[in-house]
Amino acid sequence: MTTYPVDAFTAPKGTYDLTPPDSATFLAVREALAAPLRRSGYGYIETPGFEHVELFSRGVGESTDIVTKEMYTLTTKGGTELALRPEGTASVLRAALERNLHKAGNLPVKLWYSGSYYRYERPQAGRYRHFSQVGAEAIGAEDPALDAELIILAVDAYRSLGLRDFRLLLNSLGDKECRPAYREALQGFLRGLDLDEDTRRRIEINPLRVLDDKREAVRKELVSAPALRDHLCEACKAYHERVRQLLTAAGVVFEDDEKLVRGLDYYTRTTFEFIHDGLGSQSAVGGGGRYDGLSEMIGGPALPSVGWALGVDRTVLALRAEGVELELPAATDVYAVPLGEAARDVLFDLVTALRRAGVAADFAFGGKGLKNAMKSANRSGARFALVAGERDLAEGVVQLKDLASGHQTPVSLDAVVEELRARRG
Ligand code: ATP
Ligand code: MG
Repeated sequence: MTTYPVDAFTAPKGTYDLTPPDSATFLAVREALAAPLRRSGYGYIETPGFEHVELFSRGVGESTDIVTKEMYTLTTKGGTELALRPEGTASVLRAALERNLHKAGNLPVKLWYSGSYYRYERPQAGRYRHFSQVGAEAIGAEDPALDAELIILAVDAYRSLGLRDFRLLLNSLGDKECRPAYREALQGFLRGLDLDEDTRRRIEINPLRVLDDKREAVRKELVSAPALRDHLCEACKAYHERVRQLLTAAGVVFEDDEKLVRGLDYYTRTTFEFIHDGLGSQSAVGGGGRYDGLSEMIGGPALPSVGWALGVDRTVLALRAEGVELELPAATDVYAVPLGEAARDVLFDLVTALRRAGVAADFAFGGKGLKNAMKSANRSGARFALVAGERDLAEGVVQLKDLASGHQTPVSLDAVVEELRARRG
């Protein structure tokens, strides 16, 4: 006999189950984050939950936390090295290249996605090993309006949910013209600091990432680091200025943050992050940027692109922190309560007819008594109960009860679907 540790029957560390009623909020947030994209020319893309490890080690970057510490990797029985996807951009670009979407003659290719991502992190509030993102990528165009479009769409998504206490941090990371000189200047500065082994190694591989260090002691040392802003080439400066103008014209407030470099290696020029101040240390609710070099890094042609990913879990937490309750449509409009066997069959048919007519309806299953069934009706959130016993059926009616007012009226069986459809408004 196999014995299982008790843990086998609890959710793994760093994960949580989404169950009703909270799951309805989660789903609504996911839909709200995607809604602005869907009306802005972005098409839906879905890629596998796992990819070849090399896609991420090359596409996300060998020196990033994601690749060095956070990836869930596995070897298949056939010996293939796979990784559960830790982020969406590399996969989406891989899929676009593989399916030749960039050759269909309509650049930029604009795509959105929604799904689960996996990172082996130290779990804490707002930081999970399995989490959800809604993301967008615009592939194959270098145009400051495209960077601005994506940022505006993210802002509109947060606002549509009623979020207020979020801030947008904005920076430019330069490009292959100006970043190398800055990189050297930064390395020179960083080598002079008193830093630990790991960080010293990072200075040599990806010094910009050191600017992203969250530790207070390190941040203090970085105060006088050379600023990228002073090293941007004319083209990058002009590009960034355009993005800033377009955002301002759209009424989007942002903060210039020259220390914002973000975790991934592939970013160029525009980078941004959305911070929510009610979330403690896991304060980033979303982020993104331009990644002009990524396509070439994973074997494709030059395809300047820009994208973002918004964290669904943290957005839900942010709404909670602000006390925002979403107005969700009731899961059930009408709840049917049969009294007796003959009524069960008639009401069951009626529930089916209501559902087919677009009215959300549920039924008192399991042969409950009237009292219990009415309790279930109330708990379901339905506005109306349909109650019928033998006498009602003999008269060809059901009782339509308004659950808020308690008011009850008989409605003819033939008319009840139309009546409820109309009342639902
Ligand atoms: P952080 O700095 O908090 O680690 P990140 O820079 O690694 O975030 P991204 O890779 O930019 O995050 O992912 C975009 C968004 O996805 C984040 O802003 C965040 O809202 C969410 N996210 C990232 N990692 C996690 C996680 N482990 N648990 C929950 N949400 C996450
Ligand atoms: Mg991270």
